[in-house]
Amino acid sequence: MRRTLSVLKIFIFIVLALSLVFLYLQGRVAVVQEEHYLLGTYFRIKAQSRSHDQAQRAVHEALAEAKRLSEEFSRIGAGSLGALNRYGASESVRLSDDVFTVLEAAERYRELSGGAFDHTIGKIVDLWGFTQDWDRAGVGRIPSADELQPLVEEPRQISLDTTAKTARLSSPNIEVDLGGIAKGYIVDRVVEILKKHELDSALVDAGGNIRVFNDRPRKVLWFEDRRPFRIGVQHPRDESKILGVLEIWGDHALATSGDYQRCFFADALKNIFPCRYADEPDKIRYHHIIDPKTGQPARGLISTTILAPTAMEADALSTAVFVLGEQKGLALIESLPNVEGILVTDNGRIVVSSGLKDINFPTELP
Ligand code: AMP
Ligand code: MG
Repeated sequence: MRRTLSVLKIFIFIVLALSLVFLYLQGRVAVVQEEHYLLGTYFRIKAQSRSHDQAQRAVHEALAEAKRLSEEFSRIGAGSLGALNRYGASESVRLSDDVFTVLEAAERYRELSGGAFDHTIGKIVDLWGFTQDWDRAGVGRIPSADELQPLVEEPRQISLDTTAKTARLSSPNIEVDLGGIAKGYIVDRVVEILKKHELDSALVDAGGNIRVFNDRPRKVLWFEDRRPFRIGVQHPRDESKILGVLEIWGDHALATSGDYQRCFFADALKNIFPCRYADEPDKIRYHHIIDPKTGQPARGLISTTILAPTAMEADALSTAVFVLGEQKGLALIESLPNVEGILVTDNGRIVVSSGLKDINFPTELP
């Protein structure tokens, strides 16, 4: 009798141990994370899958595509956007499908935002020294009114031929700069590749242009383990702080534009000082998001975060809303389905759109 009992105990112990091993293996996920410096920013992919090899393959393929696309979207490079900027004023230039798609979208956002989003201002952006390869230590310059005015006043039109996939620029004073929208597009393409590999979840982040998906919940026996991505929104005046955390479910994108991302300061004598988050006493901040109507850095907002279904939409709208300012920017957000926003004004107020009333963000910069 005692012998039977101890055999039973050993049996129960083995069954329990095997169940624990089974549960552990079921719930285990491999996380693969890689980053590359592309288009003047860090491009980071984090993928989760039950198979490490599968996640690794997906991330490699996705990063190779991101690299290829970043060359396509260089405004001075060997891709078709570079060709458009070199020859587009004198002839129609055949664009790659990717560049054509984004250029068409940029034209739509220019119209939708009443010209606040404007991808034809590359030459104005250059005058301020915010070139594509600007890095954080980069120092810009303040252009004179004589330099700026002709570029601002120039009517800047692009004619697109949707059948031939060509574009032509109305003047040699135009340089097409897709820096306010292309990173979002690349993030969307990367997510498409990752989804093909049937990962459990993934996060793609190109310098604050983020898209996540976690629509394949992990299952441990009959329990579903669904967790949102928790994404911190950067404090625009303190690198070490966030404004709050957004919980993102399913498949969604967000993008932040800020006057601290590429900037410089100038004192009264126009001496130039490097970019940083905190304001500098007695100095004026100049930054890379330009109001196309004035040719000057846009004033009024210091940071805009947009939530939208795709990263391209979030990217274009974060730039557009930054230029539009609080009232017009909020009105644009409210007019679009599935789009929400968090705006920070230059006097430190944090304003959210109607769909985000329940988030737990402070109403003033902490
Ligand atoms: P983002 O960080 O997405 O707001 O994009 C800013 C970048 O877009 C700048 O570095 C410029 O290359 C470009 N840009 C600046 N001003 C504008 C504008 N008003 N509309 C579209 N793109 C812009
Ligand atoms: Mg943008």
